[in-house]
Amino acid sequence: MSKIRVYELAKKLGISSKKLISILEDLDVDIKNHMSSLEDDMAQLIMDLISEEKGGKKPKTEAQKSAELPRKSEEEINKPRVQKVILPPKISIKDLGTRISIEPVKLIRKLMDFGLMVNINAEIDFESAKKLVKEFGYEAEEENQLQLSNQQEVEQDRPEDLKPRPPVVTVMGHVDHGKTTLLDAIRETKVAASEAGGITQHIGASQIEKDGKTIVFLDTPGHEAFTALRARGAKVTDIVVLVVAADDGVMPQTIEAINHAKAAGVPIIVAVNKIDKPNANPDRVKQQLAEYGLIPEEWGGDTIFVNVSAKNRTGIDHLLEMILLVAEMAELKANYNRKAVGVIIEAKLDKGRGPVATVLVQKGTLRVGDAIVAGSSYGKVRAMLDSRGKMVKSAGPSIPVEVMGFSEVPNAGDILRVVSNEKEAREIAEKSKEIHREKEIIATPKVSLDRLFDKI
Ligand code: GDP
Ligand code: MG
Repeated sequence: MSKIRVYELAKKLGISSKKLISILEDLDVDIKNHMSSLEDDMAQLIMDLISEEKGGKKPKTEAQKSAELPRKSEEEINKPRVQKVILPPKISIKDLGTRISIEPVKLIRKLMDFGLMVNINAEIDFESAKKLVKEFGYEAEEENQLQLSNQQEVEQDRPEDLKPRPPVVTVMGHVDHGKTTLLDAIRETKVAASEAGGITQHIGASQIEKDGKTIVFLDTPGHEAFTALRARGAKVTDIVVLVVAADDGVMPQTIEAINHAKAAGVPIIVAVNKIDKPNANPDRVKQQLAEYGLIPEEWGGDTIFVNVSAKNRTGIDHLLEMILLVAEMAELKANYNRKAVGVIIEAKLDKGRGPVATVLVQKGTLRVGDAIVAGSSYGKVRAMLDSRGKMVKSAGPSIPVEVMGFSEVPNAGDILRVVSNEKEAREIAEKSKEIHREKEIIATPKVSLDRLFDKI
């Protein structure tokens, strides 16, 4: 079947053109009048919908009944087998049908049962697709966006191109156990005196030097940022420093932090803080944490515990040494010579400077002048500041920088990519925006099944 005009299809179906047009409008099909042409798969879809509905209302002929039989038994045979399918964040009904070998019309009918009215070319989000394919015996898993968009580039990274990169550390722990004080202590002891006095820009991450090696700390306020970034498929942390106050011991958020780190497969170093306090009991912390699988080395485990006093600045150097040790064992590497890929750590609209975002570069080297895209934001790197507010021209893997030059404020967790030119960046960003818009439209069903068939 090729294209068919609306009035021809209406005739075929035995309904008025007017009725058919109103059905098509409800399905979001773009038509002008009864002379408009329809794509063949859309015509097929309408015919299936209407003939089935009519069949349901009128007594079925023997021929109709027997025609339906194989369909049903086929579905039943398919049901008990649970098959896995990997799906992208958005997929059209048509493509989804191809992936799981189910006719799109069946998918659309099922979506109607859920109260969603979509056409064959509409894109649905992963969560909707997951629910939908489950009805047909499939278990859906989401493609990792970062991996997907960079799969090709990852493959191009030959082992000999990979060089060591600094570790990225997140400090986590229960409220008031000393996370902020510890980060301040680390920064203060490691920032040259001449710079410490100056006004440092807060960019949500800091970079320090220890024995000629760089360590990067994210000062994202703990758990939310960690999970928000991870939910978007971005793994930004190499090591978690778990702060536990020696006078207070393991508390609910301590356990939460352990669970997050474990789920992300990130090694934990325990900083037993506030050991200056008279009622500090570091051994009790060890005992408590052993129950959660964090067993100290002296007890035959492999978890490093460091006693510190963030307030008195003691134990800080030892903690940093241990971070470098764990980093060395993890053999963290990246290719410095490629188009940069990074993650938006935080972003805001600055009165004077426009949209600014802290980017943690993950691969490659980000340079001033690069064309960039992050979600629906795009642009050209106009200027970059390092974590001490100094202008820099480039930033390699693991390095956090504040970037200026975005068209709009990107979202934390968005993947930043360098592309060939600004035109390409804009095209990718606009596509991303479209997908978001469609998602919103799909989220609000326009018309119910009942209303649609009342018109027939
Ligand atoms: P956060 O909520 O984990 O960021 O904790 P803060 O860094 O804000 O610290 C909470 C309180 O504990 C503050 O009053 C700090 O001064 C205090 N504190 C932090 N570290 C130490 C420490 O090593 N010793 C003592 N005695 N107090 C500390
Ligand atoms: Mg704090």
